Amino acid sequence: MTPVPAGTPVDLRSDTVTRPDARMRDAMARAEVADDVLDGDPTMRTLEESVAHRLGTEDALWVPSGSMGNLIALCVHLERGDRFFAPDRAHVLDQEVGTAAWLAGGLPRVLPWSEGPGTPSPSDVTRAVAHGGPYFALRDRLLCLENTHNAAGGTVTTVEQHRRLVGAAHAAGLLVHLDGARLWNAAVALGVSPADLAAGADTVLVCLSKGLGAPVGSVLAGGTAFVREARRVRKMLGGGIRQGGVLAAAGLVALERADRLAEDHHHARLLAAGLAERGWKTGIPQTNIVVLPADDAPHTVSLLARRGILTLPTDVGVRMITHGDVSRRDVLRVIESFPPPV
Ligand SMILES: *Cc1c(COP(=O)(O)O)cnc(C)c1O
Repeated sequence: MTPVPAGTPVDLRSDTVTRPDARMRDAMARAEVADDVLDGDPTMRTLEESVAHRLGTEDALWVPSGSMGNLIALCVHLERGDRFFAPDRAHVLDQEVGTAAWLAGGLPRVLPWSEGPGTPSPSDVTRAVAHGGPYFALRDRLLCLENTHNAAGGTVTTVEQHRRLVGAAHAAGLLVHLDGARLWNAAVALGVSPADLAAGADTVLVCLSKGLGAPVGSVLAGGTAFVREARRVRKMLGGGIRQGGVLAAAGLVALERADRLAEDHHHARLLAAGLAERGWKTGIPQTNIVVLPADDAPHTVSLLARRGILTLPTDVGVRMITHGDVSRRDVLRVIESFPPPV
């Protein structure tokens, strides 16, 4: 077994670790800019219009991070004490410092994965909503979906499943927010447009800083009235920025790169197949996330790090994510250096 040579680790911790390349840096350097808090930055506006167009929404708003985008959506949709629903282990439940409750005032209720990893069923939604009830009953306000579902292993909700979930939510009087941090990956995996996967959702969050490779930036999309309100909440949270065109320019270059995600998905399948051959129990990844079940994940993660393979522990195992800075050769080196299962 030849370990990956010291000094050149393969970083599979996240698809956020990509660095902007020369073309992206060049676009950032040349970006046309103005004060976005005062009267609008032209490059940010171009990016926002482009994302709104791709998602089929009326408008969109650049935000510094996906977490802030989700938080803004929840702040606009929820009043204090309102209940919202989200699939088990959703990012908005487990990975955002509890801001859904802490700052947006939402009371979460977890939905099971009845339609496969990461995806609840329409009847889970219908059953969870309290129809009527006494004056002290909770007000059920919002369904948060996540596509792809990160903690489930980058799993995809199909257009048909999405359509039925949105239908059930709207029929029950709920709004729908879609956490589409990796919606681009879902669209490429299914061979559909991001707009197909966002159809009917009241608001959609997408990230530009993951597989698409921008250094900073997410976009929150929705109707005109929603975006107007979201802009106020963004300012309240300190997310109103000035010459943001420098960052938005990177986002515009990133948007052109959505198709290259197919390569990351191919690399993830190659990695999973190679590790399965070595005795690890892992299924076929649907997108760019590979999760290896491990009883002592932190131990396995440090073992791998010593062999030049950087990964992250999760509560069920070891997570590896392929991205634009990981080549086929890197994947083959990782497979070669991987220890046998313990
Ligand atoms: C990464 C991620 C986010 C937002 O992350 P930031 O690091 O705040 O940009 C939101 N939802 C999901 C599912 C994610 O994977």
